[in-house]
Amino acid sequence: MTFYGVVDERFKSETDLFQLHIHRKEHINKLEKERCKGKLDIFIPRNWKMERYKYQEQLRRMLLSEIRWQANIIFSQRTMFYAKQYNIACERIELEARYRYLGKYFSEKKLVKYNPWIICAAPKRHVDYLVCHELSHFIHNDHSPAFWEMAERLYLGLDLKAPTSGHTIHQLRNELVQNKVLFLLMYWGRPSYLKSFFWNGLVKHKTPLIIPDYMESTDKRVKSGYYTTFAIRV
Ligand SMILES: [Zn+2]
Repeated sequence: MTFYGVVDERFKSETDLFQLHIHRKEHINKLEKERCKGKLDIFIPRNWKMERYKYQEQLRRMLLSEIRWQANIIFSQRTMFYAKQYNIACERIELEARYRYLGKYFSEKKLVKYNPWIICAAPKRHVDYLVCHELSHFIHNDHSPAFWEMAERLYLGLDLKAPTSGHTIHQLRNELVQNKVLFLLMYWGRPSYLKSFFWNGLVKHKTPLIIPDYMESTDKRVKSGYYTTFAIRV
């Protein structure tokens, strides 16, 4: 897969949770948008050369602010839905658009943080997988077999003690971490990395990317926290 730092009208997201389309439009001189829950249309002036850094940066800002609005609705709804099933003590979500960051839980704060870019590339089953993963950490502070069994039961809507194989949850996990579009978007969405695709205001051609190395890492600063994360090397 080749990506060299330019997002324009060729990019779209069409999942069962979110529809994003980018269009060209005549007679406008700045970005415009139309939004409703689950749907976003962005309009780029017809004559903008999207290989220019300044236009990518404007698009990045608008896209990020809009997907935060969308992701807040989606992640709040999905998280509260699953938390209620097993009475998990999670009361709120926050969004943090850090690169190398899908989700993280804070059990003492009754909080889960998610990366908003996820909704631009992941269908509902992957969003739900991540929600169930983070919520299961409120009970199991590790990635033990008991943790995975609980995550699967939660995802499948089973009784807390029901027998389960773990097959479904591992399959979902593998699908999500192989989502290259998601990882490239998160990369593009970080200002310093977006800049690295450009030279003198214009895009450099086809900077090779090596992605992704998926891992679960412990957060050293917060006791008992696990990131669901990945690494990118250029
Ligand atoms: Zn985890």
